[in-house]
Amino acid sequence: MSERVLIDGFSRRVDYLRMSVTDRCDFRCVYCMAEDMQFLPRQRILSLEEILQLAERFVALGTRKIRLTGGEPLIRPGVVQLCQQIAALPGLRELCMTTNGSQLGKLAAPLFEAGVKRLNISLDSLNPQRFREMTRTGDLAQVINGIDAANNAGFSHTKLNCVVMKGRNDHEINDLVSFAIDRQLDLSFIEEMPLGSIREHSRAESHYSSAQVRERIAERYTLIESAESTQGPSRYWRLAQAPNIRLGFISPHSHNFCGTCNRVRLTVEGRLLLCLGNEHSVDLKAVLRGHPGHPERLDSAIIEAMKLKPYQHNFEVNDDVQVVRFMNMTGG
Ligand code: SAM
Ligand code: SF4
Repeated sequence: MSERVLIDGFSRRVDYLRMSVTDRCDFRCVYCMAEDMQFLPRQRILSLEEILQLAERFVALGTRKIRLTGGEPLIRPGVVQLCQQIAALPGLRELCMTTNGSQLGKLAAPLFEAGVKRLNISLDSLNPQRFREMTRTGDLAQVINGIDAANNAGFSHTKLNCVVMKGRNDHEINDLVSFAIDRQLDLSFIEEMPLGSIREHSRAESHYSSAQVRERIAERYTLIESAESTQGPSRYWRLAQAPNIRLGFISPHSHNFCGTCNRVRLTVEGRLLLCLGNEHSVDLKAVLRGHPGHPERLDSAIIEAMKLKPYQHNFEVNDDVQVVRFMNMTGG
């Protein structure tokens, strides 16, 4: 039997799925959520069994990498067992997770045991007060403890994610680089994206470009551009002073990476999003619940959905909300 693969209307092979396992979070990062977020009622979200069934269909259709995200994936009860089940799906090469790190102190070792291969951990500041301001509720010491627990549990190639905001944490860029070097972690700097309506700050005013981040880093280190790519929005550089770690720059405002996009996202409501920056989507929960015991119906819906994947997004640097979903709904 020939291998099944998902191909979109622009001949791109789609083999990477990011699945949100919850829209809830113990943090309220200022760039991600409003302070008074309304979360989804339980009946609207996929059960863990349904998430597994969907993962199974995607892997059967050629998905090679799954990343679990949220919201904060580690606050969903049962998530470790879900990881174990997804990691065991035949054909899947890599199960990864993006987390804010708050629960890693206790969950890093069980996650590693469950078969999670790599972690991305968000870290925007090394100053406890500023960290609290940017996350509204987060405790920096707990997250650093979580990062160390991940290292001790055996995770390698862990990556830190930092959203840079002008006037908030831009002056900490080189301290974060130095923290990453000390712990031998990769580090990506992310430009804030216009997802969801927020009143806390002006996104146009807080915009800090990847080029500006590199200028800051060049004040202390020698940056060497690298040809490495993950088919996503990251561009990689290395440092002459610490060649083992990779610095990524995620610049969603540029769309020159869209041509090689290999990924789709599934929200915890079971909606398949074909592009981070567009509203095109298909309701897979309706197919799943409407045709129990008929995986072939899901397969057809997923294959058909690929035709809706747009060629590219067009985020702009201004205060218009260009996509009404918040990042915690999108599955960052
Ligand atoms: N809670 C987990 C975490 O924070 O890592 C996973 C979900 S979070 C939505 C995934 C990533 O999206 C985080 O690295 C976060 O910093 C980033 N993010 C959230 N809102 C964003 C926005 N408006 N623009 C750019 N990145 C954003
Ligand atoms: Fe929660 Fe992650 Fe969003 Fe912060 S970025 S509020 S940790 S989902």
